[in-house]
Amino acid sequence: MAEILFIGLGNMGGPMASNLVKSGHKVHVFDLSKVAVDSLVSQGAVEVTSLNAFHGSAIDTVVTMLPSGKHVESVYLGEEGLPSTLKQGVLNIDCSTIDVETARRVGEQLISKGQLFVDAPVSGGTAAATAGTLTFMVGGETSSFEKAKPFLDVMGKNVFHAGDAGNGQVAKICNNMLLGIHMIGTCEAFNLADKLGLDAQTFFDIASTASGQNWSMTSYCPAPGPVEAAPSNRDYQPGFAAAMMLKDLRLAQEAASSARASTPLGAQAEALYALMESAQKDDLDFSGIMKLIQGRL
Ligand code: NAD
Repeated sequence: MAEILFIGLGNMGGPMASNLVKSGHKVHVFDLSKVAVDSLVSQGAVEVTSLNAFHGSAIDTVVTMLPSGKHVESVYLGEEGLPSTLKQGVLNIDCSTIDVETARRVGEQLISKGQLFVDAPVSGGTAAATAGTLTFMVGGETSSFEKAKPFLDVMGKNVFHAGDAGNGQVAKICNNMLLGIHMIGTCEAFNLADKLGLDAQTFFDIASTASGQNWSMTSYCPAPGPVEAAPSNRDYQPGFAAAMMLKDLRLAQEAASSARASTPLGAQAEALYALMESAQKDDLDFSGIMKLIQGRL
C-alpha cells in the first residue's frame, strides 16, 4: 500500500482518486474546492487542508489532475505548491493535459531536485475515469514509468510508454489533432452525400468498408442514425465536449509553432472549433461540428 497525495479532484481527478482509494492505497487529497475534497473523504481519503502546512514525509507518490500548464507549474514549482517536507525520490505523476514545454520544464526541475517525474495525460472521459478504463500516454524515464505503471493500471486499462518526459503530451495532442481533423472531414463527407441525395446509412455502409473509413465514422458517426451510441443520436450531448477538443487543438498549434512543424489542417480544425466557441456551442460534443458544417449552429 502506497501513500499518495492526489491534487485536483475535478470531473476526472475525483473518480481517479476514488479508484486509488478503492484499491487500498492511503490517498491524501487536496483541491481548491471543499466540496470535491469532502466527496473523496466520504469515500475513505484523507483531507489535506493546505499543501504548505501538510507534513508530507510519508508520501511516496504525487498525482495531479489539473486544468492547464499554469496550474501544474504553480503546484509543482510555485511557493504555494507541493509540501517542502516531501522526501527525495518521490514519484510525481501529472495526468493533466498541458503544453509540452511546461511538462518538460516541470519534469527537468523536479528531477534536478532529486524527484521522479512522468507526464501521463489520458484519453477517455469521465465515464472511463469512473470505470478505471482510461488510456495513459506516459513520458519519462523507463524506471519512473515502471514505478508509475501499477498506479496507472488501477485508474486505466491501457498504459503506453511514449518516451522521455513530455512525450505523453506529444502523443495526446497529436492524436487529438488527428481526431479533430478526421471528424471535420467526416462531417463534410456526410453533409455532401446528403445534399447530393445519398442517405447517411447507405453512405455509411459503403464508406465504412471503403478507403474513407475512419474512427470518427465507424465508432462516433456525426450523422444521426448509423452508430446508435454516438452523440449525434442525442442532439450532440457530450461525450467529449468541443471545448475540450479546442483546448487540445490549441495545445497542438502552440507545439507546432515552437517545433516549426507545418500543420495546416490542424490550424484549420482549431479555427473551426473556435467558431463553435464563439457561438457559445462548445459545450456540445465535438461531433456537433456537424451543425456548423450544415450551417445550423
Ligand atoms: P475540472 O475543471 O473538472 O477539474 C480540475 C480541478 O482542479 C478542479 O476541481 C479545481 O478546483 C482543481 N484545481 C485547480 N487549480 C488547483 C490548485 N492550484 N490546487 C488544487 N486544485 C486545483 O477538469 P477535468 O475535466 O477534471 O480535467 C482535468 C484535466 O484532464 C485537464 O487537463 C483536461 O484537459 C484533462 N482531460 C479531461 C477530460 C474530460 O473528459 N473531462 C478528458 C481527458 C483529459
